Amino acid sequence: MAKTTPSSSRRVFYFGKTRTDGKGNMKALLGGKGANLAEMTSIGLPVPPGFTITTEVCDGYYKAGRKLPAGLMDEVHTAISTLEKELGKKFGNDSNPLLVSVRSGAASSMPGMMNTILNLGLNDKSVTGLANATGNERFAYDAYRRVINMFGDVVMNVDHEHYEVAFDKIKTKYNAKLDTDVPTEGLIELCHAYKAVYKHHTGQNFPQDPIKQLEHAVEAVFRSWMQPRAVRYRQVENITGLLGTAVNVQSMVYGNMGLDSGTGVAFTRNPSTGENKFYGEFLVNAQGEDVVAGIRTPLPVAEMPKWKAEGHPQIGKLVHKQLLGIKDILEQHYRDVQDIEFTIERGTLYMLQTRNGKRTGPAAVKIACDMVREKLIDEKTAVLRVPPNDLNQLLLPSFDPAAKKKATTLTIGLPASPGAAYGKLAFSAAEAVERAHAGEKVLLVRKETNPEDIDGMHVAAGILTSTGGMTSHAAVVARGWGRCCVAGCGAITIDEKSRTIVVAGKKFTHKDTLSIDGSTGEVMEGNIATQEPKLSGDFATLMKWADKYRTLKVRTNADTPADAKRAREFGAQGIGLCRTEHMFFEGERIIAMREMIVADNEADRRKALAKLLPYQRADFEGIFKAMDGFPVTVRLLDPPLHEFLPQDAKGQQEVAKRLGVSAKLIAERVTKLHEQNPMLGHRGCRLSITYPEILEMQVTAIVEAAINCTKKKIKAIPEIMHPLVGSENEIRLLREWTETTIAAVKKAKKFTGKLDILIGTMIEIPRAALTANEIANHAEFFSFGTNDLTQMTFGFSRDDINTFLPDYLNKEIFERDPFQSLDQTGVGQLVDMAVNKGRSVKSDLKCGICGEHGGDPSSIAFCHKAGLNYVSCSPFRVPVARLAAAQAAINSGKAAENRTA
Ligand code: PEP
Ligand code: MG
Repeated sequence: MAKTTPSSSRRVFYFGKTRTDGKGNMKALLGGKGANLAEMTSIGLPVPPGFTITTEVCDGYYKAGRKLPAGLMDEVHTAISTLEKELGKKFGNDSNPLLVSVRSGAASSMPGMMNTILNLGLNDKSVTGLANATGNERFAYDAYRRVINMFGDVVMNVDHEHYEVAFDKIKTKYNAKLDTDVPTEGLIELCHAYKAVYKHHTGQNFPQDPIKQLEHAVEAVFRSWMQPRAVRYRQVENITGLLGTAVNVQSMVYGNMGLDSGTGVAFTRNPSTGENKFYGEFLVNAQGEDVVAGIRTPLPVAEMPKWKAEGHPQIGKLVHKQLLGIKDILEQHYRDVQDIEFTIERGTLYMLQTRNGKRTGPAAVKIACDMVREKLIDEKTAVLRVPPNDLNQLLLPSFDPAAKKKATTLTIGLPASPGAAYGKLAFSAAEAVERAHAGEKVLLVRKETNPEDIDGMHVAAGILTSTGGMTSHAAVVARGWGRCCVAGCGAITIDEKSRTIVVAGKKFTHKDTLSIDGSTGEVMEGNIATQEPKLSGDFATLMKWADKYRTLKVRTNADTPADAKRAREFGAQGIGLCRTEHMFFEGERIIAMREMIVADNEADRRKALAKLLPYQRADFEGIFKAMDGFPVTVRLLDPPLHEFLPQDAKGQQEVAKRLGVSAKLIAERVTKLHEQNPMLGHRGCRLSITYPEILEMQVTAIVEAAINCTKKKIKAIPEIMHPLVGSENEIRLLREWTETTIAAVKKAKKFTGKLDILIGTMIEIPRAALTANEIANHAEFFSFGTNDLTQMTFGFSRDDINTFLPDYLNKEIFERDPFQSLDQTGVGQLVDMAVNKGRSVKSDLKCGICGEHGGDPSSIAFCHKAGLNYVSCSPFRVPVARLAAAQAAINSGKAAENRTA
C-alpha cells in the first residue's frame, strides 16, 4: 500500500499570537508564503493569524492516490480551535463567525498557477452572523455569493459561466448596471440562485459544515498542484524537485468594508529600475482580487497620503507611514527587496504576504550594489543576488516594453541569441547583403543557415530560421556576434522562390517588416521600437566584485579582431576558441579555398594554400594584437570540405567560371565529397591526416603572425588546437607535424627569440575522454568541445534535434536542452574523467571548455567543480560567465564551510 503518512511529524504549523511554529527558512516544507507568514508574525508585523499545512502532506496526498492522510483533518480542527480562541470568533457562528482564506503556496513562487478560495466558513447561518458583526448586511451576502461561486468553480468544477447567467438575471431584475448597483435583497436572492446552480451541476447542496468546506478546499488546492497550467509553468520556469504545494489557511480580513478599508500590492524598491523608493498600488474599498483582476484602476501608493475617510481624515497618511516603517523592517530583516500584499480593514493595516521581489536585470544590479553601500548585504551576497543571464538585459538592445505590449505575436521559436531586432524580410544571404548595402534594415529568414550565409547573417539586423536548435550554425554564429536570432520556428513556412513566408495564417513578403525577440523567441508583426543598453557604473562595480571571487578564468570564442576586442572590453582573458574556417568565407578567400578543395594533387593544393596563407597570417596578427598579452587558442580547420562548395548547379557553374574549370568537374568533386553523416565524417583533424599541407599552412600562418607581432612588441601567446581527436596515434602524429612546422618557420624567419606555443587538443569524441591519459602524453591542454561531445555521447544530431526535442522536454525526459545546459551526469562524467585521467599523467594540464555550454551558468558551476582552468564563450556572454564563475566559487566555498562546520 502507498505510504500515507509524511515523514515530518508536524503536519500543521500555526502562526499567530498564541504561538508560531514555523520560520522563514522553512520554505521547502511550508512553501514561500507559509514560511514568510510565520516569519512576519515572529518579527511582530500585523499578520492575520492562521496555519499552514505542509508540502509533505501534498506529497503524501499524491502518493496515496490523491487521498488526504488519515488524521489530518483532526489536526486542522485543533488549529481552527486555537484560531477561534485567539480571535474570539467561532466557525459557522451566527453572531461573530470565523472566516478563512485557503491559499496555495509552493517553495518557488508560481503566481496565479494554483487555486485560492476566500470567505470559507460562510453558510446560511454564519452569513447573518457576519451581517450582525459588521453591521453591513449587503457586505455579508456579497461575501457569501462569492464563496458559493468560488467553491463551486474551484472545488467542484462548476463552470463560472453558469453563475454569470444567474447574476445577469438578478441585475436585469433590479435594473442594475454594475455588480455594485445590486441592492441587498438582490444579493440575498443571488445567494439562493447560486446555491441552485451549485446543486444543479453537482447534484449536492452547497456544504453548510465549515469543516467540510475546509476539507474540500484543502484538497482542491493540493489538486491544483498538478493542473496543466501549473505543470507547464514549472516546466517553463525550470522548477523541479519540489514536494508539492503547502496550503495556507488564514483568518480573513476585508478591504471592502467601506471607504476606510482598502487593499494593495507593493515592492519595497522599484522592481524595474531598482530605485530605492516604495513602489506599488492600492484600491480603497476593494478586495485583493479586484486589484489583480484590473476591474478598477488602482492608485499609486505615493498618493495614499491623500486618502481620507469619513471620521478618519488622517487614514491615508497614517497607513502610508506605517507601510514605510514596514518597508524598512522587512528590508532590514530579509536584506532583500520584498514584494508585499496588504489589506486595510477599517483603518487597521494587515500584512498578507511578503516574498523576495522579482526584478529586471538592471534593477537587480542596482539593488545589489545599493544594498552593499547601505551595509545591508556584503559583496559576496551581492554577487549571488544577480541571476547571471539577467545581465543580458544590460548588454543588448531590447524592445521598448510599452511598444512590445501593443504588438501582435505571430509565433514563438527558440531564443537562440538574445537582443531585439526588426527589419524587412530577406530570403537569401545575397539578397540581405545587397539590400543592407543599399541602406535597408533586413531580417534574414532562412529554413536553416550554413556557412555560405555568413555574409548575409553579418549584415542582417537579425536572423530567423524555421529549423535548427540552440547550437545550430545560425545560433552559434549569431551568439558569437551578439546578433539577435530566433531559430527553430517550426510554425513558419518559407517559400524562398516567391519570397514569402506564412505564419499564423498570415502571409508576409520582402516588403513586410517583422520584429524578433532573441531573448524570448517571440516573432512579432511590424516594427517595434527598441532601446539601447545603458552600462551603468553599478554594472562595472558588480563585475569587479565577481572578478575578485572567481577562480575560473573566462575566455571568449572569437574569430575576428573586432570580436576579440569587444570580448576584451567585456573582460575576456584570452580566446578559448578561434574557429579558423570562418576566416575562409570572406571575399577572395573562398575562391582560393575552393581551388584547394577542387585540386586533385598535392602540388595544386599547395598552390591554392599559398594564396590563403597571407590572409590567415594577417587575420591572426589582428587577433593577437587585439588579445595582446592573453592566450589565443587557434583551432585548425574543422568542418567537412563540402561545406565550402555550393550544392546547387547555378552556384557550381559560377565557381567553375571563377576557377577556370568545367562545371562538370566541380559537380564531380561535390559528389565525391558527399557523405551520409558529414558530422561523423571527414572533418576535424582527419582533414590534416589526409592533407598535412593544410595543417602546415595554418601552423605557418600562426607562427609567422606571432613572430611579426613579437617584432612589434605585441605579446602573442598562440595555442594550437587540433579538433576531433579520438586516439593517441592521431595526436602524436599531429603534434610531430606541428612541432616540425614551428621549427621550420622559426628557422626560415631566423627567429631566435622566445615563442612558447602550446599544442593541445579538443576533447569532443567520447573515446578521447576515455583515453585521455594516453592523449595527454602529446597535449599541453584539453579544451572540451561539448557541442560535439554532447552530440556524440547522446547520439543526437546537434543540427536536427529540434524536430523532436520539444517532445523530450514536454514529457520531462529532459529538464533542459542538453545542448544548452551540460548533461552533468552523462557528458559531465566524461569531462570529469578526462580531466582526471589527463592530469594523472600531466599534473599541470590546462583544461577549458569551448562548447556553447561555456556561457551557461549551471554548466559553468559544473566546470568550476570539475577543476577546469577556464570557460570560453561568445563575447556577449563573457560578463554572464564572469558572474556565474564567481557564484560557483562563492557557493562552493559556502559548501566547504558547511562541510567543516
Ligand atoms: C564543440 O564541438 O563543442 C566545438 C566548440 O566545436 P564546434 O562547435 O565548432 O564543432
Ligand atoms: Mg566541435
